[in-house]
Amino acid sequence: MNNESKSVIERKDFQALFDALSAEGYKISGPTVRDNAVIYDEIGSAEELPIGWTDHQEGGSYRLTKSKKKTLFGFILGPYTWKKLLYPPEKKIWEAQKSDRSFEIVEAESKPIKQAFVGVRPCELKAIGIQDKILRDGQHSDPEYGALRRNLFIVAVNCTNPGNNCFCVSMNSGPGVSDGFDLALTEMFNGKDHYFVIEAGSRAGKKILEKIPHRPAKPEELEQAEKAVERAASKMGRSLDMKGLKEILHNNFDSHYWGEIAKRCLTCGNCTMVCPTCFCCNIEDTTNLGGDRAERRRYWDTCYSVDFSYIHGGSIRSTDYSRYRQWLMHKIAYWQDQFGTPGCVGCGRCITWCPVGIDITEEAGAIREKA
Ligand code: SF4
Ligand code: SF4
Repeated sequence: MNNESKSVIERKDFQALFDALSAEGYKISGPTVRDNAVIYDEIGSAEELPIGWTDHQEGGSYRLTKSKKKTLFGFILGPYTWKKLLYPPEKKIWEAQKSDRSFEIVEAESKPIKQAFVGVRPCELKAIGIQDKILRDGQHSDPEYGALRRNLFIVAVNCTNPGNNCFCVSMNSGPGVSDGFDLALTEMFNGKDHYFVIEAGSRAGKKILEKIPHRPAKPEELEQAEKAVERAASKMGRSLDMKGLKEILHNNFDSHYWGEIAKRCLTCGNCTMVCPTCFCCNIEDTTNLGGDRAERRRYWDTCYSVDFSYIHGGSIRSTDYSRYRQWLMHKIAYWQDQFGTPGCVGCGRCITWCPVGIDITEEAGAIREKA
């Protein structure tokens, strides 16, 4: 995108984005504050965004605090990911009803809805692209995911305030967006002026932008927005040296260090639940007590559970260390073998939401050092 295609929306006009999306029939989801965290849920207006909130993150720690700035996107990332809205944690696939000596199967209703996600960070956009490869374009695609993706409008927000656990620069997934969005914003606030540099990345984006009051961006506004994203790139809290890491991990499959990590890992699976790319699931069939109704449901699952790798006769990953190794190896090494990119975008959520603060960058770095 060149700078000529960029415009400015003033803060006072930001609600017009919501109004334009609603008028086009989009159900809008975005960040909002609930239970002392920034989560993603359906929101009806800009006033429901986390205005004036920011978050502080460390390994195993997340604190939401009030900021003096009345920014709309002044937080980093919360525990929720957009996958909750594209690939729900729980879903009924079908139900069956017994009648006389036969039964009828009723497929679960899945209406493709027009959704707009407002506030997608660059690393999260990359994560959606990674899930697309599997759930939309893969050999075993999920038709509902594909339908939701086709009807999705994405308003991305460049990152100008990375957190202590962020390492998107190492994963080439931020802090600025390059493609895959309908509209992309950079929020600028200096105490006096509060505006958004905006660019359209699709025809649908241009159509929405036309309905929002905006003006051409001044050269100094563009320069300040670019510098803010450049500064964010130099303020990453963490880094991960990816050079040759896949091969190093493959060569150290039997390292004793996996056992050292396992002494700390609780195998709780939190890191997989908060990860924007993890997609493993389980299918459960249940019947009612009368035996005349049955259901099949899909749930998010985790490679940290013993049952997840249960194959006839027992689990093939019965030890804690083999389950942690599977997760880290899949993120950094196997994913590249399977799908051509790492399965990690450097969002840092697994570090923040690990109850014991296990850090993927430190552990992968330790394997490299010990190699
Ligand atoms: S592995 Fe961790 S840092 Fe990487 S994308 Fe998943 S949650 Fe984010
Ligand atoms: S690394 Fe942390 S979050 Fe992941 S399973 Fe182990 S203890 Fe739980």
